Amino acid sequence: MLEIRELHKAYGKFHALNGLTMTVGDGALYGFVGPNGAGKTTAIKIMTGLLEADSGQVLIDGRDVTGFEGELKTQIGYVPDFFGVYDNLTVGEYMEFFASCYHMDGLLARKRCLALLEQVGLDERMDFYVDGLSRGMKQRLCLARALIHDPAILILDEPTSGLDPRTRFEFREILRELQEAGKTILISSHVLSELSELCTDIGILDQGRLLAEGNMEDILARVNTSKPLVITVCRNLDQALVMLKNNPMVQTITVRDQEISIHFSGDQEEEAGLLAELVGAGVMVSSFVREPGSLESVFMQLTDQEEERSVLSYEAESGL
Ligand code: ATP
Repeated sequence: MLEIRELHKAYGKFHALNGLTMTVGDGALYGFVGPNGAGKTTAIKIMTGLLEADSGQVLIDGRDVTGFEGELKTQIGYVPDFFGVYDNLTVGEYMEFFASCYHMDGLLARKRCLALLEQVGLDERMDFYVDGLSRGMKQRLCLARALIHDPAILILDEPTSGLDPRTRFEFREILRELQEAGKTILISSHVLSELSELCTDIGILDQGRLLAEGNMEDILARVNTSKPLVITVCRNLDQALVMLKNNPMVQTITVRDQEISIHFSGDQEEEAGLLAELVGAGVMVSSFVREPGSLESVFMQLTDQEEERSVLSYEAESGL
């Protein structure tokens, strides 16, 4: 398990990290998201031992490894947001060079390199120059390189930015396979829609601190309850409005013709209860729909400081 406790980091007077605390559970595929400048790369560099924090801790399996560069490099594989490949080497030479950095050589190193290149689909490119690889292939090569010492934790900083949709899809499939093989993976990205399909957990960062963290389904469910519930009523609209106004789980009501849009804080069961209550009181409901929430909407809600708070209001055409 990778735990980050109260990380602070300032560049001069600018505070990039303001008490970042987060937990990446064993075997998780953790999406680390935040707007530009939120502090993702700064946090990742501290986790991987490339940057020193002003204060705070990085713990692996409960052990404080803050600043222990050697320890962090053994336990973590890191794919940075730039390629950093040596163009004048072949793919095979490049991998063997990194294997030698981890004191692997000879037959053992070659076997390990070949197995990793197979895993990322580059085994047939062993003799190609790195320079001649496509962007997607270079990214896969960086991934293979990061796995050379078989780290338990893999950290990738915006790995799919600049890749075309097909290459992104293939890269995601490789990550999924690695997670299924038991790796703990943290991936930072702006492509939120991709994360909801790929990740098991998510942490949302803004201005150097975490705004939300949890299981992907729980976070999306939280968004679901904040989306409006749209009720179309074909008879007894006034009766429906009185009932909704008296319901403590209804925060806002907006009426347009026969359509009532409400913000309802209840869960799915309470939602079903509300529908039954309306129908039971003689309100003719022709449709009752909750728009599905998206990861984009939770991200916007959590990071939008200017968002106005909802107040109980409705267009009182009905005179209620
Ligand atoms: P992006 O998604 O744009 O890469 P990020 O979430 O990774 O952003 P960081 O790169 O960690 O964010 O940067 C956080 C803030 O710290 C930004 O405002 C950035 O300008 C600032 N910053 C980062 N590195 C330095 C540095 N070496 N010196 C001064 N300021 C820096």
